[in-house]
Amino acid sequence: MHETAIAESLAGRVEAIARERGLKRVTAVGVRVGMLRAVVDSTLTAIYAELVRGTDLEDSRLEILPGRVRSRCPECGWETRSSRPVLSCARCGSGKMVVSGGRELLIEFLETEE
Ligand SMILES: [Zn+2]
Repeated sequence: MHETAIAESLAGRVEAIARERGLKRVTAVGVRVGMLRAVVDSTLTAIYAELVRGTDLEDSRLEILPGRVRSRCPECGWETRSSRPVLSCARCGSGKMVVSGGRELLIEFLETEE
């Protein structure tokens, strides 16, 4: 299951950031996951919770923020960014929209407790 690989990678990155900044107790991790990664949010948060149990990150929970995809019209060049792909062009009405991006996996914030 690829959520496991993503959760492991996230936990590793959070750990590194926490160590680097000397954070003692991370309570929440905000992560932006691109839609094209096709991650099931509840699966990812559950695996993450399982993974950090008994570690320094035990008290942290994952908050998944929706990613952005870029939809572009090849006919007239109109472009937009949104959380879901746009299937028809708002400018010329073409239905040949090209969707790209949406594969990001970014840690946007860490919440900590003093
Ligand atoms: Zn267009």
